[in-house]
Amino acid sequence: MRLSRYLLPTLKENPADAQIASHRLMLRAGLIRQEAAGIYSWLPAGLRVLRKIEAIVRDEMNRAGALELLMPTLQLADLWRESGRYDAYGPEMLRIKDRHERELLYGPTNEDMITAIFRNNVKSYRALPMNLYHVQWKFRDEQRPRFGVMRGREFLMKDAYSFDLDEAAARRSYQRMFVAYLRTFARMGIRAIPMRAETGPIGGDLSHEFLVLAQTGESAVYCDRAVLDLPIPAADTDYGGDLSGIVRQWTTPYAATEDVHDIERFEREVPAEQRVQTRGIEVGQVFYFGTKYSAPMKALVTTPEGEERPIHGGSYGIGVSRLLGAIIEASHDEAGIVWPDAVAPFNVGIVNLDPSDATIDQVCADLVTGLQAHGLDALHDDTDERAGVKFARMDLIGLPWQIVVGKRGLSRGVVELKRRAGGERLELSPADALAYVL
Ligand code: ATP
Ligand code: MG
Ligand code: MG
Ligand code: MG
Repeated sequence: MRLSRYLLPTLKENPADAQIASHRLMLRAGLIRQEAAGIYSWLPAGLRVLRKIEAIVRDEMNRAGALELLMPTLQLADLWRESGRYDAYGPEMLRIKDRHERELLYGPTNEDMITAIFRNNVKSYRALPMNLYHVQWKFRDEQRPRFGVMRGREFLMKDAYSFDLDEAAARRSYQRMFVAYLRTFARMGIRAIPMRAETGPIGGDLSHEFLVLAQTGESAVYCDRAVLDLPIPAADTDYGGDLSGIVRQWTTPYAATEDVHDIERFEREVPAEQRVQTRGIEVGQVFYFGTKYSAPMKALVTTPEGEERPIHGGSYGIGVSRLLGAIIEASHDEAGIVWPDAVAPFNVGIVNLDPSDATIDQVCADLVTGLQAHGLDALHDDTDERAGVKFARMDLIGLPWQIVVGKRGLSRGVVELKRRAGGERLELSPADALAYVL
């Protein structure tokens, strides 16, 4: 991709109204544009990151046996009356009327709709366990939308829903999602710590929030340092097998959000030097809520004995768009974003120092093609701005690798390869630079 033909509206100055680093950097790096409070357009580079995050989430959901579908953003109010929470949900819900005066809402979550889909299509225990998920825009009319995509009103969420015959089976479904979440966040280059959490308006009695530790996080969190170094389950983890050992390992060290924090227990169980008190960004949450929706909505299945029983459910959310903010909070420096490889908008940035020189342009174009042949994307800065401007912009947008190509280097047969994280530089031939990043 040539930068001269790309839409990347970077800003030199910090936008005045952005209070935290990730919000400032997302605006400065040309990733998003605010359309209204908590409502954003995703510009081309921002959308590339969003899609990469989404792809990792999907991959791990599928690996854990979940089935993707897609529900609409608009829902009938009557569906929510059936589950009994239309009135209870309160002012966060955006309520709409169509031309026939029928009441609709822009979905803040999908337990009710998925329960109706399940109820109409699954009748027997034989189809269980089942887990259905989608990645869809949600709307919550947050009282204080802020920090950019971190607390938006319109935001992208992955939400999965599990259906099981009894509590024991539902807990196994919960464990599969718990393990999938550990893997999902690790693949994005961040550490999200599962912590005991309150269940909120969705209800139920078993829940963990996954939090990225950051001073700018909105929740106070308390944990045992031991939980920060636990091993992430491997890609070949058997989701058909017993996962309770992994979940036990991750839930044994003390880790709780402020809502459920128990100071006495914290001080009793965790030696003073092991205690971590900090803040965190909630990037995901897993709930087990039993028959909360299946009982009122009559989502019943027949048991092996031929009886009918309401299914035991759970729901599992990931804040896909919030993750951009969380990843940047965890990975940036004075100069800009430092994208982890797996989610960077482009893998490599090529800085062309002499764009009017046809030979240099060709070397850059060949690098782009060579990278593409190996599945890596490159952004070729072929603009005619000053070198200093180009270097600063490349650091700001945070691509993992930079390759600087200029007349002076090429006269000696070399380009300069720079790793954004750490800043190490190497002089290599174009071919060796290519081989190095592959
Ligand atoms: P919060 O406590 O931050 O308000 P929540 O607990 O209300 O979040 P959930 O209902 O658990 O959110 O939704 C699942 C995930 O969706 C959250 O873990 C979070 O990552 C994301 N999310 C929730 N609200 C927002 C929002 N306003 N903007 C962006 N992402 C959000
Ligand atoms: Mg909320
Ligand atoms: Mg919450
Ligand atoms: Mg939550």
